[in-house]
Amino acid sequence: MPEGLEAEIWTRAAQTLVGRTIERVWCDQRVAPPGFVDLLNGSTIGGVWRRGKVVLVETDGPTLGLHFGMTGRLEIDGAAPITRLEYASNRDRAAWDRLRLWTKATNDTSPSERPALRMNDPRRLGRLSLDPDLSGLGADCLTLSADELIAGLGRRSGAIKPTLLDQAVVAGLGNLCADEVLFHAGVAPRRPADSLTGDDIDAISEQCRLRLPVMLAAGGSTHGDLSPEVRAAVGACPLDGAPLDRTSINGRTAVWCPAHQR
Ligand SMILES: [Zn+2]
Repeated sequence: MPEGLEAEIWTRAAQTLVGRTIERVWCDQRVAPPGFVDLLNGSTIGGVWRRGKVVLVETDGPTLGLHFGMTGRLEIDGAAPITRLEYASNRDRAAWDRLRLWTKATNDTSPSERPALRMNDPRRLGRLSLDPDLSGLGADCLTLSADELIAGLGRRSGAIKPTLLDQAVVAGLGNLCADEVLFHAGVAPRRPADSLTGDDIDAISEQCRLRLPVMLAAGGSTHGDLSPEVRAAVGACPLDGAPLDRTSINGRTAVWCPAHQR
């Protein structure tokens, strides 16, 4: 599923839209707020940024929020910055489109038939928003400090893995990145959050800042040491050769190494 890393890749690709005026908007009304099309039409894109897993297209009108759910993906000027997503069908059907947005460059008077921005979402679990309230999101996963992690965890006592997936604790972590960070931090996914030592907190926040940028540069959340292939095979730990374990925690699959994650 798209995680903060995928949102970051799309955000960077969508920078090319900055300065363009939105000329026409089509959306699947089932995933958009009332008045969505009229409120966006004619506005000019001033910036594209990201909070957690949300891509935000700022305009001189409202800010458009793109929430990708389990299977959403983005195309910009007809190109897909990410072509493969775990869990998502790699087929591409127009019937799965949830947003098509056409723009006009400032010096271009002829509208283009190809949407400048297209959101496709087979399972329709994503949504579109205008001026989304992001105040409930925790600190961002790519820059997470130890103090931010401590603040995000608060007095939570549940298993650390599902706790890290709570966007109010850390924004942007999904299933693959949370497993990868815990794997490199040497922390077992079922460890109660309130049992973590200062060293554990330091290790988790540090691996967010070190590991996630490496995965981002390699192509996103499927490019960790615990890649979808490694997760499917549940073979030997890439670090120490011990057998990996695959288990379900709060309904999500966790892959981890019982030998070095404590
Ligand atoms: Zn190991």
